[in-house]
Amino acid sequence: MVPREKQEKWYKQYFQPPMELTGLEKQRKYILTLAFAKSGCPLCEAKISKLDAADENYEIGNYTGKYTCPECGAGLRDVVPLVAMPQPWFWVLSNETRETLLRMWKDRK
Ligand SMILES: [Zn+2]
Repeated sequence: MVPREKQEKWYKQYFQPPMELTGLEKQRKYILTLAFAKSGCPLCEAKISKLDAADENYEIGNYTGKYTCPECGAGLRDVVPLVAMPQPWFWVLSNETRETLLRMWKDRK
């Protein structure tokens, strides 16, 4: 999870109070708007943001690390729908988590 202090610092920097932002800052604010938004974990249904699921190395607009549900530990990846939806992005299980669960499901009994 991105440390709360870092999340709060970004929130204050980009969202309050309303201020003049440069072009680059506006881009970063847009990326943060999506990163602060919450979506349901496909496994445990907890509502989590990208900042909650990222590791502490998350940087705005430059993250190549893994996303993990802080509630159940499932590996996640974010998906942007091809058609416009009210939800700008949502979670699906990471390939690794999906394959592990499928193996367990098939091996049951
Ligand atoms: Zn979960």
